[in-house]
Amino acid sequence: MPMKNLMNSTLKILVVDDDAVDRMAIERALNKTELKFELTEAENGAVATDILKNTAFDCIFLDYWLPDQDGLHLVKSFRSLGLTLPLVVLTGQGDEQIAVEIMKAGASDYLSKSRISSERLARILQNVVRLHRAEMAAVLANQRLRESNQRLTEQNQALAQQRAQIELQNRKLVEVSELKSQFLATISHELRTPMNAIMGFSQLLLQQYPDPLTAAQVDMVERIFSNSQNLLEMLNEVLDFSRVESGNLVLSLSHFNVDELTLMTVAELRALAVKKNLSLETQIDLENPLVFSDQECVRRVLINLLSNAIKFTDSGEVCVSLHALKNNENPEAECIELVVKDTGIGIPPEGLTYIFEPFRQVDQTVTRQYSGTGLGLAITASLVKAMGGTIRVESQPQVGSKFSVQLPRQVEAGLVPAVQVL
Ligand code: ADP
Repeated sequence: MPMKNLMNSTLKILVVDDDAVDRMAIERALNKTELKFELTEAENGAVATDILKNTAFDCIFLDYWLPDQDGLHLVKSFRSLGLTLPLVVLTGQGDEQIAVEIMKAGASDYLSKSRISSERLARILQNVVRLHRAEMAAVLANQRLRESNQRLTEQNQALAQQRAQIELQNRKLVEVSELKSQFLATISHELRTPMNAIMGFSQLLLQQYPDPLTAAQVDMVERIFSNSQNLLEMLNEVLDFSRVESGNLVLSLSHFNVDELTLMTVAELRALAVKKNLSLETQIDLENPLVFSDQECVRRVLINLLSNAIKFTDSGEVCVSLHALKNNENPEAECIELVVKDTGIGIPPEGLTYIFEPFRQVDQTVTRQYSGTGLGLAITASLVKAMGGTIRVESQPQVGSKFSVQLPRQVEAGLVPAVQVL
């Protein structure tokens, strides 16, 4: 507490002394100081105790020798009442011996009556009041600290509870998601068997043996066959997706010729392009066509990108190109880039942000023109990632799209989730 504050405030002082002359001596001495004060007098310990029950003081001046009890007991009794205010004991001549006891009992200071002067009184008063106020401030600060500690502990407990709840919810979500993947896998697997039967029997019918079919019947059976084929592809996509999503994807690594794989896959899908009058080009520019990766995964990636390019292009061309991305600093880390480019409907900018997410399509309406599950790109991206590669897309609506996949020429077994080397 700065001195100035102490000088400005009125100090409430209690003087406990049976001798009226001594009480007046204190008042006189205080009057000579610059301190503002309000004095209350008590002639013995009992009166002082009564007064203290109802009034708060800044300081007590207490005569050691009181008629009813000595200062030592009174100091102890005041302190035991929980009074923390400054207590200055006024001792007689030769009482210095008991001063130590008084201080131990909880007095703030002592002053020999024979040495009372206004300077000494003012100094002692200021010291004890200041000390007391500082102590009170420290007590208050400590209490606030304890309270905020308590609050923090409570908040921590609440946070811990919330975290436990979130963890529980997370576990439930994971379980539900696993159930969903399991459900997708089972359904698509179970539906494939009857679908294969439908396709097998339609092919048998198309052989027209032993009885020929009419042209209309042939047309119908052909439609059954091609629709079943579409449905089977979708089922395979769902099955692939649930496998990739559940983390059950195991890479089968081997050395293979990526040139040949590309040419064969393009040849497989050429019929689709021809049906739509699209030109389908292949540009291969690879000195060394040998790669060490998962052949089936690379094939699926190419099939997904190429079938999308053909599906979403109504006129013009689709081009598949393959080249090496040289890494001069580290030839071992060379990548192969596979690009599928089309002159199709393109993808609006906002679509580019979500088309790799499962079940997301630019046109999600039920009346959409292009069929599909919305899983192809999600599977593609997962397969590419599993092989340690990256996929990028550039597209402009009504101009076309370009999907490029960068794959390491050599998949490092340690970098991918689950690997089986053939
Ligand atoms: P699907 O083809 O079954 O709808 P995909 O995951 O393969 O699902 O593709 C997601 C969406 O991305 C497609 O529905 C389409 O909107 C868009 N898309 C993908 N490839 C192309 C492309 N070559 N041209 C235009 N849009 C494309």
